[in-house]
This record gives sequence, structure tokens and C-alpha cells, in this order.
Amino acid sequence: GERAGSLLATIDCAITAAGSRQVAFWLAAPLTDPAAIAARHDAVGNLHEANATRMDIRERLKPCPDMARALQRLALDRGGPRDLAAVREALRTAGVIKILLGEANSDLSAQKPELIAKASDDLGDFRDLIRSLDQALQAELPLSRRDGGFVASGYSQQLDELRTLRDDSRRHIASLQARYADETGVANLRIKHNNVLGYFVETGQAQAARLQDDSQFVHRQTMANAMRFTTVELSDLEGRILQAGDRALALEQQIFLELQGVVLEASEELAKTAEAIAVIDALSALAELAAANDYVRPQVNGSLAFAIKGGRHPVVERVLRRESKQFVENDCDLTADRDPANRLWLVTGPNMAGKSTYLRQNALIAIMAQMGSFVPAESARIGIVDQLFSRVGAADDLARGRSTFMVEMVETAAILNQAGPRALVILDEIGRGTATFDGLSIAWSVIEHLHDTNRCRALFATHYHELTKLAGRLEGVHLATMRIREWQENVVFLHEVVGGTADRSYGVHVGRLAGLPAPVIARAEEVLALLEEGDQGLAIERLVQDLPLFAAATPPTETPRSKPVNAVTEPRSNADALVDAVGKLRPDELSPKEALDAVYTLKALLEAAPGPHDPGSEDHRTTEPPDGL
Ligand code: ATP
Repeated sequence: GERAGSLLATIDCAITAAGSRQVAFWLAAPLTDPAAIAARHDAVGNLHEANATRMDIRERLKPCPDMARALQRLALDRGGPRDLAAVREALRTAGVIKILLGEANSDLSAQKPELIAKASDDLGDFRDLIRSLDQALQAELPLSRRDGGFVASGYSQQLDELRTLRDDSRRHIASLQARYADETGVANLRIKHNNVLGYFVETGQAQAARLQDDSQFVHRQTMANAMRFTTVELSDLEGRILQAGDRALALEQQIFLELQGVVLEASEELAKTAEAIAVIDALSALAELAAANDYVRPQVNGSLAFAIKGGRHPVVERVLRRESKQFVENDCDLTADRDPANRLWLVTGPNMAGKSTYLRQNALIAIMAQMGSFVPAESARIGIVDQLFSRVGAADDLARGRSTFMVEMVETAAILNQAGPRALVILDEIGRGTATFDGLSIAWSVIEHLHDTNRCRALFATHYHELTKLAGRLEGVHLATMRIREWQENVVFLHEVVGGTADRSYGVHVGRLAGLPAPVIARAEEVLALLEEGDQGLAIERLVQDLPLFAAATPPTETPRSKPVNAVTEPRSNADALVDAVGKLRPDELSPKEALDAVYTLKALLEAAPGPHDPGSEDHRTTEPPDGL
């Protein structure tokens, strides 16, 4: 549910919010009409080639506000002066972009692609509206229209007069303060204002008597240290200020509504312009994406092709690049309308080899191609995909009473019931959430159904290597696997898809990489070797009874494996026994006490062995540590 790490976050290079919304909308609604898709590709391709114009357009889009949102607020009468300014600035951008698109010497092709030509028309010509908004609005605008102060001076003579009256009266009050101080001889007399009293004259308590003696001062309020008075003159002035202010404010509100009215009257045209800006932004963004990441124009047509050469996963590639790592390209060919048609690929390969990445990258390439974007590949030929199904990862929906496996089955059911011949299906590890044989059986029949009934293009990743036997029987099935190299007991993932099957999953190896405790890994390797020997029933029996794992190596009557120094058994000869014992020690499993015991045991064996040591030495084994330890 997060944007970070999503395909959208990776491919969205739009400059404006409206452009990003457009990219998101195209991504969420891929097209199925080859002509409409080609129209987008034409426009993206043209802007891709026209480097200079594209860069210019993107630079000019930077200050462009979100006109669509501003229009929405104005239409709901929730807008403010800044929304009017946003409309004006967006219209200015529209004008500039229209010029850029129309310039005779631009590097765009002379015969403009249809979408660019249409957007250019829709950008419109709003010079008059821009001019009147320019004249009406102040340079610095308040957020809300409530308190006024947004209409530029010079726009309305009446407003200018009211403002002058208001401001003159304020100046008058300042001079009144000087006069009262002079007349009363109270130097620190002040005229102040608050919301309860309005304007009033204030002096300290000590000087108050002088004002009380003067009949023009009417007492209003006594404070702890001060006294407040008013005068007829002051009240008059206040009345004038208030009136002028109120009238100015009312006039500004009226002007706002007028301007809003003008904008809304043109709202249909303006919405078209807003959309044209968004479309130009989105097309240039896709062109930029293609140029910056080496994407190519896919060929999308009415066939049943799906031939990707050198495909990459856009998101994983981006992440790897940040770490200066190389993404390995892979081909995929599910083309269904030719003979033989390998339209269902079974992908096997070790864990961590890149199966999921491969499945998803092909699905993403299909979506990107049909949204009108270029794609991360050397070349791509895609016959319209009209449904895309994916069943990947483990999720549950416990609140609605669905376990992980139930969700997996519900999703698989939806795919098998709905996928038509033009569908693209990716299935990652079907049947993993249940017992091995149940899972294998379900996976087996799912493949048969996809192949015989749905007959769609599909990628199926699995660890059930048994499934690869199906390839011999189903003509449309192709086997692919991820190449790896074993090197000094390590597995190197080459992330390369080749024909064939994997023989192992290397799950234990991945467990070691992930940091499972060493004893767990060692034990898992033993168990795996036993299970792979053949008879699983017998193997499980040995495990359950805690018998030594490999009958050939040690007689079945031996000490259970949990005994500390299980390696030390009856010696064939003391020297053999010693080698045996050391070989079978499991240092990681020993407690300090057991380790010490083992040392004594080994020493005893050594001393018992013929050689320079005393052959008939006594038994040194003891449960007590020697002195000093
Ligand atoms: P599992 O079977 O465990 O689910 P998987 O085979 O599906 O594993 P992915 O999850 O696809 O493996 O890939 C594991 C990691 O390998 C990715 O996160 C990515 O870092 C790396 N990787 C995958 N494909 C490529 C590639 N083509 N080039 C480079 N790195 C890759």
C-alpha cells in the first residue's frame, strides 16, 4: 500500500501533481486498442527524440500550479485569492508550452503526433483572463479571502478611496495621541485598541486625575495600574475607520465573486487546458523515463505475440543501480499464434535465483506497453493482453475467514475460471501452502487446465521439479530455468533464464545466507541428504526413531545422536577410533562441559593408541575439571 518501491514511484517522472495523476491514471487503466496505444507511443517517441524541447517543457512546468484542484475549490465556493492566482499562473504556463510546441524550429517532428496536436489546441489562449487577473490581484496574497487585502490598488477606484479614508483616519488617531498628551501634560498617554473597547486613551493611575478633570475625557475602565478613557472625537474617528474598513472588505468580497464568476464561466475550457497541461507533462515524463533508462518503444498489435528481448524489471533495476549493481536482462517468448507455440513457460530454479523477478518483469512490461509507455527491454512485441492475472506471494485475509492457503486457492480459482485466450497469467509457486503431495497435485492440474482450457500465455514458477515432466506431454509447455554456478560450496546466482530444468532448490543454502543457526543448517543438510536418497518413508522412520542417518556409515545399535560425544564409539583400533571420533565431533552443538569431556575422551584415545605414548596409560576421563580450570 505504500508508494515507495512501487512501479508507479519508479516510472513517474512527471513535474506537476496533475502530471503525476495522469501517469497514475494511465498506469491503472492500460489500453487494449492498438491504435490508441500507438498514439501514445508516437507522442512519447517524438518527445523522446526532441531532447531540447522536452527539457524546455519540463523546466517551464516547474512553477505551474495545480489548476484542476484550484478550479474545484472555486467551483465549490471554497476557494481563496491564491486559487485565482493558481489559475492565472497555470494559464501562463499553458501559453508558454503552446509556444514551445508550435515553434517552427523546435526539434519536434513537423507533422505533430495526434496527442501532442490535440493537447496543443486544448492549451487554449487566455491572454485576456490572465491580464485581468494580473490587474486584480496583489503580488502577495492571503490564504483566505475573509480578511480582504488581496485586490491590487488601481483595480477599483471605489476601493482605493475607501482604503485611503481608512488609512487617513488611522494616521489621524496617531496625531490625536500627540495632541492629547500635549493638552493634558501627560507625556506617556497612549491611544490603544482592543476588541472590547475599540479605541481608547490610556494613562497610568498616577496621571489619571488630570484626565478626569478634563471634561472631554469620559471614563471607561479602571485597571490595576491604568485608567482608560474615550472622547467624542476618538469615537467619531473609530466609526469612520470601521465603516471604511467594512465597506472596503465588502467591496473586495464582491470583486472576488466577480473574478470567480469569470473563471467559472470559462471552467469547461479551463478544465480542458488543465488536462492538456497534465497530458503534456505525463507524455514528457514517459519520454524522460525512456531516455534516462534506455527503454524502447514496444510493438503492440492484434496478434498473440509475447516476445521480449533483453527484458528488465524496472523497479529492481532501479534499486540495483543505486547500489551500482547490474541487472541481468532476460528474454521471454510466449508467442501463442505460431507453431510450435510455447505459450506456457514452467520456470524452475533455486530460491533467490530471480524467478519472481522474471515473472513480474514480463507482466510489468505488458502493462507499461499498453499504458503507452516505452518498456525496459531491448525489444518487445506484444499482442494485446486484455486480462492480466497474477498470483504471487503469500497473503492472508484472516478477518474474512481466509487462511493463506485459502487466499491462494481463491485467487487461483479466479484465474482458471476467467482467463481467456488473450490473458497473460503469472503464477508464482502454486500449491506451496499445503502438504507436498496436495500442492503438487493441484499445481499439476492447474497447469493442465491453463494449457488445455484457458490456452492463454502464462509463466509458472515452481519448486516442484516433478512438474517439468509435463513438458513432454503438453505441446505448448516450455521449460525454463535460472542459471547458477556452484563455486567452493557456494551457489552463485547468475539470474539468467535459460532453457531446461533445475535439479535442486538450494533452499538450505539460502537458509545459511539468511543466518539460520549453524546447527540447524547442518542438521537440515543431513535430513535433506537422507530424504534425497530415495525412500522417503524409510528416511522419515529413521529420523523419528533418532537412528543414525546413514545406515552404511555406522551400525544401527549405536548411541543416539543427541549424546554429547556421539562420535566416540567402540574403536576398531584406537588410532581409527581417534580419527573417527574427531571426524564426528559437532563443535557447534557441544556445551563447554561436553567439550571438555570430549577433550578427555580424545586424549584417552590418543594415549591408548600405539606410538610414542605410553600404551598402557590409565583412563584420564573425569567429570571434574583439573585444578586451575
Ligand atoms: P524464491 O524462490 O526464494 O522466491 P526467486 O527465484 O523468486 O526466489 P527473486 O525473489 O525473483 O528470486 O530474486 C531474488 C533477488 O535476486 C532479487 O531481490 C534481486 O535482488 C535479485 N535478482 C533477481 N533477478 C535479477 C536479475 N535479473 N539481475 C540481477 N539481480 C536479480
